[in-house]
Amino acid sequence: MIVIATFLFMEFVAWFTHKYVMHGLLWSWHRSHHTHRKGVLEKNDLFAVVFSIPAIILIITGSLFPSVHLLMYVGFGITAYGVFYILFHDILVHRRIKIKYKPRSKYLKRLVHAHYIHHQKHTKQGCQAFGFLYAPEKYEPSRDH
Ligand SMILES: [Zn+2]
Ligand SMILES: [Zn+2]
Repeated sequence: MIVIATFLFMEFVAWFTHKYVMHGLLWSWHRSHHTHRKGVLEKNDLFAVVFSIPAIILIITGSLFPSVHLLMYVGFGITAYGVFYILFHDILVHRRIKIKYKPRSKYLKRLVHAHYIHHQKHTKQGCQAFGFLYAPEKYEPSRDH
């Protein structure tokens, strides 16, 4: 339960961070993700590193101290989100690992489409569709924007 709740909450955290931090104060990191990448890594990847720190701390603290062992599950939830973020955002959408898989489900098509809309702009301002694992219905590929 805690793992699932944390996982779902992380989509909100990621959306919020993307909208207000990455396209805000830390645009200097995120800009690398809205321009063409030269090497294997981009400065934007630092966000994944930053998010992994609380997950690691929570898992270690939860496993060391029985009184707060539930924290471990919060850490697992964040980690699970990180895994899905890499699968969907980095691999499925941006193809950082070359795979042939094409999304067939309505949900995934909408998700990919929403992120393409996000990447139509290369600027700090004026972007939309900040979610990573959930896209509202208005981003249905068949609809006009
Ligand atoms: Zn962005
Ligand atoms: Zn992206």
